Amino acid sequence: MLIASTKGGESISLASSKLSREALKALEKHYGFYCPVCRAPLLLKSGEKRRWHFAHQSHHACLVDNEPETAAHLSGKEDLLYWCEVAGRSPRLEFYLPALRQRPDVYLPGIEPTVLEYQCSMIPEERFAARSKGYVDARITPVWIIGAGHYHGHRNKIRLSGFTSMAIRQSRASPDAHPFASSYYVCFYDPSAKCFRYSHCLSPISKTLFISQESCVTLSDCKPYQLLAPTYVFLPRLFSQSWLMMKKSIRLAVPKHMTREEYTLRALAYGLRQHFAYFPGYVGLPHHAFVQFVNPPLLWQMWLFLLMGISEPGHRFTPRRIIHEAVIRGLGNLFMLRNLPLCTIKTVEQLVIIYLEQLVRLRIAEKSSGSYRIKQLPKREESISALLNEDRVMLKRLEMALYADPIHE
Ligand SMILES: [Zn+2]
Repeated sequence: MLIASTKGGESISLASSKLSREALKALEKHYGFYCPVCRAPLLLKSGEKRRWHFAHQSHHACLVDNEPETAAHLSGKEDLLYWCEVAGRSPRLEFYLPALRQRPDVYLPGIEPTVLEYQCSMIPEERFAARSKGYVDARITPVWIIGAGHYHGHRNKIRLSGFTSMAIRQSRASPDAHPFASSYYVCFYDPSAKCFRYSHCLSPISKTLFISQESCVTLSDCKPYQLLAPTYVFLPRLFSQSWLMMKKSIRLAVPKHMTREEYTLRALAYGLRQHFAYFPGYVGLPHHAFVQFVNPPLLWQMWLFLLMGISEPGHRFTPRRIIHEAVIRGLGNLFMLRNLPLCTIKTVEQLVIIYLEQLVRLRIAEKSSGSYRIKQLPKREESISALLNEDRVMLKRLEMALYADPIHE
């Protein structure tokens, strides 16, 4: 913590005060430092290594259940405070919200009250969800900025799990017009570089690995409102390359660490005499909203293909029945939704319909009165190289088809 009260009720902020260590020690001796929330005595930590701060005695549980503060957290919090001050947002540091029993790092008053939570320590998913919900219910917009130590990105891919995946949100800036562009992003902050890093255009390729595009913005080059409305350039060729690479690796890879869903699907494909790696090009289509499923598009779309294309070809299915058939075969988890407390959530049916509509636009499926059937298609080439080409052609066809006739969500 950077703020404490004295016995007389005076507030001491280590972020704004220019007091020397000796002056602070003298204050501590004569007046004591107390937690502004629970009134318990605080210790002044004025060592050489970490930024000076206040801390509860180790055995004491405060009314606010915050995680221990790392050096990165203390310095990042202070950076964000000054940055908001310079932008004229009248930020309040460690502002206690008694009704919520929460003390965000930075509170921004205004027409749309906003809190900045700079999260450097691990936080259990339930606590992340409860805190986010607390803010949202009180009509306060929570902005979670993740500490750079939790950034696990490499070559246009990023691993997000636990609370870092729950910090995914959608940019309010108008999206790029490209059909594969996505507004979903996560924001990281690195206090040593004074720089935000956005991982955006997130498309899941496994439960925790995402194709992403990256952009960095220094603190001095942006304003606080842009945390909620970052703008970035979508690179369609880079996206298509990453997407096709993902499909290729699934076609060619020897499966090793399979999830239960993949194992069950592979067994089902085997039972239907369908070689798992020889799925048609229309299995594994991207759409920005598919990030809302825990499972990657290729897996749950494989289910639709096995059901509608192989098991019961030519039959009509409503989206509800497609999901129900998966449930009764023990594959209900394929359609599990990701826990995204900061996003507008779609239903499983709405997401399945998006894919079915993509198939309609590709002229692979037909729709009539709310149900869909996959058309009888001529027998496909069955060499991997032909299928890799089919993946490429299908992605291009989808792009063209969606430009001509976008799916309205
Ligand atoms: Zn306290």
